[in-house]
Amino acid sequence: MFYVIEIFVNRSLHLENIKFYGFDMDYTLAEYKSPQYEQLGFNLLKDRLVSLGYPQEIKAFEYDPSFPVRGLWFDTLYGNLLKVDAYGNILVCVHGFEFLKHSQVYELYPNKFLQLDESRVYVLNTLFNLPETYLLACLIDFFTNSPQYTRDKTGVKEGELTMSFKSIFQDVRNAVDWIHLHGNLKTKTIENLDEYVKKDERLPMFLTRIRESGAKVFLLTNSDYVFTDKIMTYLFDFPYGARPDEPHRNWETYFDTIVVDARKPLFFGEGTILRQVDTKTGALKLGTHKGPLHTGEVYSGGSCDVFTELIGAKGKDVLYVGDHIFGDILKSKKIRGWRTFLIVPELVQELHVWTDKCQLFAELQSLDVMLGEMYKNLDSSTKEKPDISKLRASIRDVTHKMDLAYGMMGSLFRSGSRQTFFSSQVVRYADLYAASFLNLIYYPFSYMFRAPAMLMPHESTVAHEQRFVMETPMISRSRTFKLADEEEEHNRPSSKNLYVDHFNNQIPHARPETPRNVTHTHDEDCSDEDSDSQKQANQMRVSTRNTNCN
Ligand SMILES: [Mg+2]
Repeated sequence: MFYVIEIFVNRSLHLENIKFYGFDMDYTLAEYKSPQYEQLGFNLLKDRLVSLGYPQEIKAFEYDPSFPVRGLWFDTLYGNLLKVDAYGNILVCVHGFEFLKHSQVYELYPNKFLQLDESRVYVLNTLFNLPETYLLACLIDFFTNSPQYTRDKTGVKEGELTMSFKSIFQDVRNAVDWIHLHGNLKTKTIENLDEYVKKDERLPMFLTRIRESGAKVFLLTNSDYVFTDKIMTYLFDFPYGARPDEPHRNWETYFDTIVVDARKPLFFGEGTILRQVDTKTGALKLGTHKGPLHTGEVYSGGSCDVFTELIGAKGKDVLYVGDHIFGDILKSKKIRGWRTFLIVPELVQELHVWTDKCQLFAELQSLDVMLGEMYKNLDSSTKEKPDISKLRASIRDVTHKMDLAYGMMGSLFRSGSRQTFFSSQVVRYADLYAASFLNLIYYPFSYMFRAPAMLMPHESTVAHEQRFVMETPMISRSRTFKLADEEEEHNRPSSKNLYVDHFNNQIPHARPETPRNVTHTHDEDCSDEDSDSQKQANQMRVSTRNTNCN
């Protein structure tokens, strides 16, 4: 068994400042088992499409977990699954099961680039999207290659019938919504909870520890009450409570506030009407709930505005834990300034490959060194060209092996040395990320998460010990901190610069003063109180120094 217990940090966060811990349910508190759960979704999707008139043959497809990866873009115009970098540059392009060559990609996408245009591109953001990602590949492959259909740039034809890739996509999308809302995905899940949902006996203890630390705990899920109740009852279904010697308690007693039907990301914007749930019947009570929010009650909908006001949260004091990069993380951070913690269950597999295939990474490094050697002692006067073809082929071969170690579409975070669109969103919007929220168990509630420096190529390849000879004359831009008495000395008029001072006296500041305390924001947790206390400390130091001088 491979355990990943670390929490990774994009932006420093002092856990002590968190007063509210919010949790999403699906794929956060309740992790669905892979690949069984995707398999279930995939099979239900096929049934639904066949019932809508899709050919029976598609039932022969079986879910292949080694193919899809989260975060791909589906180009509804040409029917391609795309893996792109942060800016929309295409890293992988697959039509059905066929991986397109560079030249083919260039033909379809000028400069191998595609703009994220929502009318054309659908981002397969969540783990719930995995079955449809693979089904889209299956269907496109089927219609493109079956002899009875003629292939076109934007779809297929059969006699007088035209089927655009966009319409296939729309059918799949509607089928996904249907199995989630009206179909039996939820029923099947509830009937076989052991088969589809992971449960961890540390959950009751962990939520209790958060509350004992003085913070509040809330649940904010898009699922409806009936489903939420079934899943949560299962997650807390242990013979004991928060401790082995305590009796079992209902799941609702572990939360200060519970909100279902949240409709995130809408919740973080205009939201919906806040209502109370009758937990006996599961039905919504009539009328809008005006507050306050009581512990032990369950609420439906509402908006972040109303919610945070009712619970008395500010924004920076909320840590929201969710798995949806857009609905949970991007929106809550961008609109509300919540601190964010993204759950990425794939990290277990990703880090397994990262460590297990370390010889491939080492191989790539030594190939890079060999490439450097080829050009050693050559400069712009060199006429002959070293033959690097073999080395280039080896580099390509190792990179390909590395990508495949993660699956057919490669890693969630990278393709070779380039980072994916998903990666860039994680870095930008998730303050913390980990394979499971339970990794918080390994950190005290006073913990200061510190972000490692993101190195630029010129920083990651040049060692600190390396010495550079600077060309002269070179202006030194570095400013050093001067103590008050020295500064006064410096500013005292001398006969030499009386002329300059004459003009200086007419402007409030002759030049910007070197700041005495921290002016650059290094942590999102920084507050003015921090810098004020530092200022005081500095002043103390200056005055002590002055006394000593006297
Ligand atoms: Mg979720």
